[in-house]
Amino acid sequence: MAFENEIDRRRTFAIISHPDAGKTTLTEKLLLFGGAIQMAGEVKAKGERRRARSDWMKVEQERGISVASSVMTFDYEGRTFNLLDTPGHEDFSEDTYRTLSAVDSAIMVLDAAKGIETQTRKLFEVCRLRDMPITTFVNKMDRETKDPFDLLDEIEQTLALDVSPVSWPIGMGRDFLGCYDLLKDELNLFDRSKGDTIKEGIKCSGLDDPKLAELLPDHALNKLREDVDMVRGLCPEFDVNAYLEGTMTPVFFGSAINNFGVQEILRGIGQFAPKPRVGKALERSVAPNEEKMSALVFKIQANMDPKHRDRIAFVRIVSGRFKKGAKLKHVRSGKIMAVHNAQLFLAQDREIAEEAFAGDIIGIPNHGNLRIGDTLTEGETLRFTGVPSFAPEILQKVRADDPMKAKHLGRALEQLAEEGAARVFKPNLGSDWVVGVVGPLQFDVLSDRIRTEYQIPCRFEPTTLMTAEWVEGEPREVKAFSDSNRASMAVDHAGAPVYLARNSWHLDRAKDDYPSLKFLKTKEEI
Ligand code: GDP
Repeated sequence: MAFENEIDRRRTFAIISHPDAGKTTLTEKLLLFGGAIQMAGEVKAKGERRRARSDWMKVEQERGISVASSVMTFDYEGRTFNLLDTPGHEDFSEDTYRTLSAVDSAIMVLDAAKGIETQTRKLFEVCRLRDMPITTFVNKMDRETKDPFDLLDEIEQTLALDVSPVSWPIGMGRDFLGCYDLLKDELNLFDRSKGDTIKEGIKCSGLDDPKLAELLPDHALNKLREDVDMVRGLCPEFDVNAYLEGTMTPVFFGSAINNFGVQEILRGIGQFAPKPRVGKALERSVAPNEEKMSALVFKIQANMDPKHRDRIAFVRIVSGRFKKGAKLKHVRSGKIMAVHNAQLFLAQDREIAEEAFAGDIIGIPNHGNLRIGDTLTEGETLRFTGVPSFAPEILQKVRADDPMKAKHLGRALEQLAEEGAARVFKPNLGSDWVVGVVGPLQFDVLSDRIRTEYQIPCRFEPTTLMTAEWVEGEPREVKAFSDSNRASMAVDHAGAPVYLARNSWHLDRAKDDYPSLKFLKTKEEI
């Protein structure tokens, strides 16, 4: 059935890495395969190559914020790949976590000289919570690296994951000659000067193939044979089921900047990575090939077009087929919306989505009615779960420099909260707003955005508040609690009551006095 084929050929994935490991470079090279950056075959002048790249960047600049890099959809060898970008800086980890909730697998990029770094590890743990299949790319083999066996050991030990190399490097740094593909018995020779070209591997009948002796110097071939013997003795064979369960990672070696090993990992994702998964709603599980469409908002991005105050809701289609003009039920409000202007993020361009399938990401422009965690369906009441929310760890007060702009500031803050950029609380008393974030850099970004996007100069100031916790329970009980703690109560952007505690004693007393209430550090975004 054509419809099911469309879904089965989709691979929705993200790349996780520590800054500088090569995520951007790998992304760029992957797009090369999708035709986003034009290739003119083997012989292409350097200047031309540079121009192709800078054109690409100019388009990005014109769009203001790099839209295309949030989601990049491209086709390769009969499959459709949706690559979701995750912001690199630690302070934006909320966005990263949400993005990871919308993919089915991930590529973990390691710098071969550094191995597992702090951010790699953190992101990996998020993936592990979802038992997400991880494919490892050991990058920068053209530089001095750690010993490949030590690297495998490090992955296995620090991440408690079985490792199974699918390619094996021949030399490293200046002596890096290429890789031997252990699954296909192919030799891939490394050529430093051909960073934008795509070369096929040389088929071999095994490590005793006489071709190898012609192509590799003796010492390199001997070392390769020794290494492979050891690998086959030490490492488990690649087991696709263990990979799909998230207990084994296949390891590719390469050099992204030289476009080496990139095609192999892309084919690996195409062949082994999971197709769109079953969605989990509070009501039931939803299979991707169900006829009826359902979808989940996992990210909101503001001002993609600086001329409009539009926001784009990034929506993962969980089941069925989306068609332009579809009338969808917005489950939280119960309203029906006709979606005519959804966008697809083709690597080359953004275009109006005529049709999209389970696994795809579409962007729906809206004025604030769509929020993170919202579900869209063809009528059924489903509420998808799994978009993570984070406890605001640092709280500050914010005030407009011009008191006449207080109302505008309030609106700006609400929008930013819906977008997921921060938690925003309006205390019952007083005119200041309280903003909660996970990383301190977020305050700088917020104040900059409020000034440039909303033209409201404002100031953030420290507070003596320790924590903000959502209060849930019997409505009457919640009201009684709110009434007797008026000075410490606030509401979030959606109107839910929040208790602003000055210290832990304050919080403990509230909990003791109202044992039937729940105090929550986060609010599930469903
Ligand atoms: P990101 O921070 O993970 O996105 O890393 P980038 O892709 O920006 O790469 C960080 C730096 O490493 C850049 O200077 C790249 O040119 C360089 N780089 C990326 N891949 C390779 C590689 O395979 N070999 C070498 N030598 N450098 C690389």
